Amino acid sequence: MYVPLLLTDFLDRAVKLYGDKTAVIDDEKVVTYSELNERVNRLSHGLKELRVEKGDKVAILAPNTLEMLEGFYGAFQLGAVTVPLNIRLKPNDYLFILNHSETKVLLVDYELYDLIDPVRDQLNVEQIIVHGGHHIQLEDNDLDYETWLAQFPANPYYRADIDESDIASLLYTSGTTGDPKGVMLTHRNNYLQALQVMHHLRVSDQDVVLHVLPMFHVNGWGSIFYYTGNGATQVMLRKTRPNIIFEKLEKNNVTIMQMAPTVLNSLLQYYDESKLDLNQNVRIVIGGSAPPVTFVAKVEEELGWEFIQIYGMTETSPLTLTSIIRAQHVDEPKEVQYRMKSKAGYQMFLTNVKVVNEEGNEVTPNSQEIGEIVIRSNGVMEGYWKNEKATNEVIRNGWFHTGDMGVVDSDGHIEIVDRKKDVIISGGENISSIEVENILYEHPAVVEAAAIAIPHEKWGETPHAVVVIRDGETVTEEEIIAFARERLAHYKAPTSVSFVEELPKTGSGKIQKAHIRNEFWKGKDRMVN
Ligand code: ATP
Ligand code: MG
Repeated sequence: MYVPLLLTDFLDRAVKLYGDKTAVIDDEKVVTYSELNERVNRLSHGLKELRVEKGDKVAILAPNTLEMLEGFYGAFQLGAVTVPLNIRLKPNDYLFILNHSETKVLLVDYELYDLIDPVRDQLNVEQIIVHGGHHIQLEDNDLDYETWLAQFPANPYYRADIDESDIASLLYTSGTTGDPKGVMLTHRNNYLQALQVMHHLRVSDQDVVLHVLPMFHVNGWGSIFYYTGNGATQVMLRKTRPNIIFEKLEKNNVTIMQMAPTVLNSLLQYYDESKLDLNQNVRIVIGGSAPPVTFVAKVEEELGWEFIQIYGMTETSPLTLTSIIRAQHVDEPKEVQYRMKSKAGYQMFLTNVKVVNEEGNEVTPNSQEIGEIVIRSNGVMEGYWKNEKATNEVIRNGWFHTGDMGVVDSDGHIEIVDRKKDVIISGGENISSIEVENILYEHPAVVEAAAIAIPHEKWGETPHAVVVIRDGETVTEEEIIAFARERLAHYKAPTSVSFVEELPKTGSGKIQKAHIRNEFWKGKDRMVN
């Protein structure tokens, strides 16, 4: 018997098993799974009245809120495609994405409503609905979400005929390396992803998740399915401020959270400064870019939390690797374990991951030979929306080419060396920017660091460090260089350093090294770009 795998199944299970359990805590808004389901039904009825049909796009521009989560399930019941929008973009980016995706209805949070104002006249969107619209003055044709929702019945919505191969979401990539691309993910992609991740993260109905990672990001978006399906309580977070995170963590007895290394960094700094006394078992799940090993040690030793690293990308739904300590490593010294946990990990269930060299052959395990990470799995996207050329460049012979470089050891542990574009090529030698950053983070005065390639007359490129210094500390360029030279091969150590107040980041908290690099390459061509 064939039964399609649909993302609505996760909410259905929660309603049946956990109807009276608290589903969402969004400050003063607290709902059970039954109540959530009723609100979702109202939304589906409402969207139907707006003539949203199967395949139509419903975009959501919101911080992590109850209404955002409702938006996903509400759209799925009609077979509509959700388009979660990064909240840190500029009006012109919204214009591009909303029109490029052919969005019909836009759900927007009242705090972000102004962002679309400058481009409103050029948008092809048919209806704008504002979460918390009663807080502000709305344009004539726009609707306040709550008032509008209240008109519709809470009874089950007669669902569209959906197949698991239908597109559930159009997710634009983080835009770390260039323009964001619209990634088409199906119900099946994310259903199987949810099963695989819930196993590796050991999600259960005893969990309370604090949604730190934005739900516009593929990993935040995808996480709602396994937390919902397992009846976990989901705590929303509007602003990723460390004090608010710690406050919610304690108040709600949070057991698990996911975030980018930069957000973890801000938590660790806050923890140091405010001398918090924590006594809570938390699984902290880190991905999106490489966490320095110092973060892992601090999390596990000082906070007493479990550090789990994950690796993946929008195009693969996203997760493919995770750091688990396997039986043969349990007795290894802590330092070895921390190092392993800071370097991606082992392939997850339902995923095939290989590291291949330029000839297309798998690299020799344990040889330190670097190759490109390629993936074959049920999570790999259908393709980039309206961009067949880009799709064919990355999906070749049944394998998705990540553009990430890695090495593999004899027991299948994969280390991310770097993004192809971030590797620094100095005098023909490849230098991992991640390796250099790991050392920079060891310096007690450094709070944030990026290592990038800058042009060099003799060597083609040379490593350059861009650092943020801890308040009240002073350190010179020479001291940083000397510190790095003591710990790295000479050619890998930065030859110059810039000191900055902050590093540019994407909406999901990734340091935009391409952006920093561009400043240094004006008028010059880089071999890899
Ligand atoms: P764009 O494709 O628009 O440039 P992006 O690649 O940052 O943006 P995402 O899909 O959010 O968009 O990120 C996936 C990428 O993030 C991976 O290809 C990899 O380079 C990096 N990444 C994710 N997890 C990790 C990790 N654990 N360690 C190192 N890098 C990681
Ligand atoms: Mg990418």
